[in-house]
Amino acid sequence: MMNEMTLKRVYLDYAATTPVDERVLGKMLPFWSEHFGNPSSVHWLGQHSEQAIESAREQIANFIHSNPEEIIFTGCGSESDNLALRGMAHSQRKLRDANHILISPVEHPAVLQTAKRLTEEEGFELEFLPVDSHGMVDPDDLKTRIHSTTALVSVVYGNNEIGTINPINQIGRICQEFGVPLHSDAVQAAAYLDIDVENDKLDLLSLGAHKLYGPKGVGALYVRNGWKPVPILTGGKQENGYRAGTSNVPLIVGFAEAVRLSDVERAERSDHVRCLRDLIIQAVLAGIPGSYLTGHPVDRLPNHASFVFDNLDGNHLVAILDTAGYCCSSGSACKSGNPQPSEILLGIGLPRELALGSLRVTVGKDTTKKDVMEFLEVLPEMVSRARRNFRV
Ligand SMILES: *Cc1c(COP(=O)(O)O)cnc(C)c1O
Repeated sequence: MMNEMTLKRVYLDYAATTPVDERVLGKMLPFWSEHFGNPSSVHWLGQHSEQAIESAREQIANFIHSNPEEIIFTGCGSESDNLALRGMAHSQRKLRDANHILISPVEHPAVLQTAKRLTEEEGFELEFLPVDSHGMVDPDDLKTRIHSTTALVSVVYGNNEIGTINPINQIGRICQEFGVPLHSDAVQAAAYLDIDVENDKLDLLSLGAHKLYGPKGVGALYVRNGWKPVPILTGGKQENGYRAGTSNVPLIVGFAEAVRLSDVERAERSDHVRCLRDLIIQAVLAGIPGSYLTGHPVDRLPNHASFVFDNLDGNHLVAILDTAGYCCSSGSACKSGNPQPSEILLGIGLPRELALGSLRVTVGKDTTKKDVMEFLEVLPEMVSRARRNFRV
C-alpha cells in the first residue's frame, strides 16, 4: 500500500476483468445525464433511450450472427447463465417432461452452482460430461449420454481458468439431432473468437461486457427463436417479458460499443495477445523447473496462459507478484489456513498438491511486450521465493 504511488503496476489479469475502453466510456456518458429517459416512456426522451437500446440490441445480434429479437439484456454474464439454465430447465420440464441436465465439470460457477441448485432444490437430475486432461469435452461422450428427456446441455465455450476452447460446433450438431437445447457460456470466448450461433447450432449463449473492454454490470443472453425460457426476474414487460426492471441504458450502450470495437479490431487484438501469450508459455515451461501448462496447448484462448507449479501455494505466489507490481491470479480460493484448490483443476484430474500451485496470466490489447519481458524476468525468482515459504 505504501508504494502504491511509485511502484509500476502491470496488469496481467484480463480474464478477471478489463478496463473500459475510452471510446466506450464516451458513448455511455450522455446516457447518464442528458439522455436519461426511461425507455418505457412514451415521450421523446424515453423514445431516445428506447432507440439506443434497440440499436445496441442489433449490434449484439450482429456480433454473434443472430437476430435482434433473440437478444435479452441482463445484469451480468452470471445472470445470463442463470436465466439460460433455470429458464430452460423449467420450460423444458413443463413442455416435454425433461428432467435431465448435462453440463461439463469445468463450467464457470455461474453455471455449475446454478445446475447444482436445480438438482438440490428443484429435483432435476444432473449429469457431468467427462473432460480430458485439457478440460475438453469429447462430442462422442455427449452422444452416449444425451437422451430425449435431456432438458438442456451446457458447455463452456472458452474456459476462464485454463483457457481451453471446446468443440462447440460438433456438440451443437449432436444436440440438434436430439432436439435438445444447447447453451454455451461465451463470456471469455467472445472477446477473441468470431462466434456464429447459426454455424455452431447454439440455442442459448451467454455474453458479458466487462471481459471485452465494456462496463461491469451488463450482459446478454441469446435465445434462439422458438425457445422460451421461464423468466427468473418478473415484473414489467421489459426485454420482451424475459427480464423485468428498467433497462440500464448507459451500460447497454457501452456494451454495444465494446462489442462493435471487438468485432472491428478482433484480428489485430488476437494477433497481439497471441504473440505475448506464446512468449509467456514458452519462457515459463523452458525456464522454470516443475512448471506445467494447464488447459489445451493449441485450442486455447489467445490471451490466456495458465500453469501449475509444484511445491508452492498459488495464492502465495500471486501475493508475492503483487508486491512486485504484477497483477495475476490463481484458481484456488483463499480460505485462511486451508487453501481450497480450484474445482476445475481437480476436474481435469490434477492431484490436490499440484492444483494448489496454480497461476493464471492473461494479457490484453494494452499489454506491451516490455511488460511481459519484465514479468518473465522476475517470475523465476518469485516462484523460488514462494517455494521456500511452502509448508505442506
Ligand atoms: C466472468 C465470467 C462470467 C461471469 O460474468 P459476470 O459478468 O462477471 O457475472 C461467466 N462465465 C465466464 C466464463 C466468465 O469468465
